[in-house]
Amino acid sequence: MINPTSFSIKFWGTRGSIPCPGPDTIKYGGNTTCFEILCGEKRVIVDAGTGIRLLGKQIMIEEKNLLDADLFFTHTHMDHIQGLPFFAPLYNPNSDVRLHAGHLVGDKYDLHGIIGTMLMKDPVFPVPSALIEKACSFNDYDCGHVFSLDGGIVIKTGQLNHPNGACGYRIEFAGKSIAICTDTEHFDDRIDENVVQLAQDADIMIYDSAYTNDEYQNFKGWGHSTWQEALKVAEAANVKQTFLFHHDPSHNDDRMDEISKEVSSIMDGVRPAIEGETVTV
Ligand SMILES: [Zn+2]
Ligand SMILES: [Zn+2]
Repeated sequence: MINPTSFSIKFWGTRGSIPCPGPDTIKYGGNTTCFEILCGEKRVIVDAGTGIRLLGKQIMIEEKNLLDADLFFTHTHMDHIQGLPFFAPLYNPNSDVRLHAGHLVGDKYDLHGIIGTMLMKDPVFPVPSALIEKACSFNDYDCGHVFSLDGGIVIKTGQLNHPNGACGYRIEFAGKSIAICTDTEHFDDRIDENVVQLAQDADIMIYDSAYTNDEYQNFKGWGHSTWQEALKVAEAANVKQTFLFHHDPSHNDDRMDEISKEVSSIMDGVRPAIEGETVTV
């Protein structure tokens, strides 16, 4: 029996940019972005990086591959969509998966077009998107929209600072909240009010911390932020627990351990997200 007010988030993929499996990324993980948020009996998924394949495997084994869920994309860069064709429940025509993206309104492609004519289209990929479309619906919304889902789940959305656009999410359930703020680049001269608004008083914030301050100097304009900025936002927004996220592929476990140590010596309740970990809100 599931507790109707239980609220948790699982990190199925923590890595940014490109998967990097191997012996030196075992601890923090090599799969790209995917979050599973369980709100009582309801399931919300954010992003379909390579981590989503493992979630699909679990649903195949434990739930007969039948899925009823909303899947929100932060955006459609490759590291956030490339697991979708390998997400098994989408091939069950009885699944009902509602796909949402908030950064494409007015763009030359909508979400359906990106999946159907770019991701799952020969000669890029041999399986046509028609095979998943019985299980899927596609919704392009204006970032800033607030969703009220069944079961008392409220999802607020807000624009992030990222090339080609991205949307952050604030998921509210049972009086608690999780803010997902990736992929985003901070501003030099001010704190990003959109991010603060999403994260205000959140129980959990996930924040794009691809770089250290030193590294960031070489990657300005690439659309990612730093762990130093994560601390600033956590403080400004009064966040209870912060997870550094979108780990750079060049940061192996030893490097991540160093970052973790440094961060926790400065502020309590901040550490890197670990692939496979579930955090109860
Ligand atoms: Zn990314
Ligand atoms: Zn991106």
